[in-house]
Amino acid sequence: MFEPPRCPYRRCAFHLAPTRDRPWFVRHGHYQPLCRPHPVPRFRCLSCRRSFSRQTFRMDYRDHRPDLNPKLFRLLASGVGLRQSSRLLGLSLRCLQLKSRKLGRHLRRLNLNLQAPLPAGSTLQFDELETFEGMRTLRPLTVPLLIEKRSRFIVWAEAAPIPARHRKTRHGWTRSQELQRKGQRRDGSRRACLRTLGRAAALARHLDAIAIETDEKRTYPGLIRKAFGPGRRIAHETTKSTRRRDVSNPLFAINQTEAMARDLSGRLRRQSWLVSKERRYLDIGLAVFIAWRNLVRRRFNYDSASPSQVLGFTPRRMSEEELCSWRQDWGRRSIHPLGSSAGSIERRAERGAMGAR
Ligand SMILES: [Zn+2]
Repeated sequence: MFEPPRCPYRRCAFHLAPTRDRPWFVRHGHYQPLCRPHPVPRFRCLSCRRSFSRQTFRMDYRDHRPDLNPKLFRLLASGVGLRQSSRLLGLSLRCLQLKSRKLGRHLRRLNLNLQAPLPAGSTLQFDELETFEGMRTLRPLTVPLLIEKRSRFIVWAEAAPIPARHRKTRHGWTRSQELQRKGQRRDGSRRACLRTLGRAAALARHLDAIAIETDEKRTYPGLIRKAFGPGRRIAHETTKSTRRRDVSNPLFAINQTEAMARDLSGRLRRQSWLVSKERRYLDIGLAVFIAWRNLVRRRFNYDSASPSQVLGFTPRRMSEEELCSWRQDWGRRSIHPLGSSAGSIERRAERGAMGAR
């Protein structure tokens, strides 16, 4: 039987610290949702006297068609565009856009909440891939991407603007004049790279030495030193970007991950109709791909484990339904998507560490 782990209202005293020794809520009947065959239990908090239900803790809270969320995830993680997904699922385009944004934001939080310190001996690989928002020449983007090499686990990826390359054609010149009047396009590459490397630095804080592999871009050594902090032992190996991108290339793991991202995320494909009009929606597309790659897909086709499982972050591969289960906006205090009781990700990690000891 479901027991709420906390009061869902942030201002309530029982939101952060619900009492363990005496009950902090009472059962308060149930309601019958239109979209489900079973009644949903309701509760009342004894501190703030407000009521809530089991559904308040679910990712599909307030959805009219929660059954479509896993299906939509499957479509978006397979490179199908928004319009075609809306046709296949029988939803309007607007409804599907809103659903996909909610799903993407949820998956971004889930990706972050399930991360834990990296095991010793991890090797990181870092690279940037180039794409665009709206217009290839005038609104290009860079996407810094960081993975753990052995497990293929994607730590982080995000899109950032880079300056326009002005075309010599008359149309390109006119458009670039128009855009320049609006203001120079800023270069967000450095900040995005630092944030991406910073995500890895947080996961590798306890490690004595860090191994990281990149191409020979001249800004990388400085960025890596800045992100990981002074006095860290960093083994940084570089590979020429002109080297053939086959299996023998030391950066094969990240090159293959990038190729997979371009294939499975329609927005990153070359020569395609599916284009991100705004970079924040590319970030949402990336969150969907990362969740698929880290938590659902096998590491290799002959493997049985997902990248997250190889690193020991999750006990098994997750299904699409499990990905779309509990809300993840309470950080590590959110309910673990694989728990049988409503235990938090934090408590489960603590118990895992005690078991290992
Ligand atoms: Zn309360």
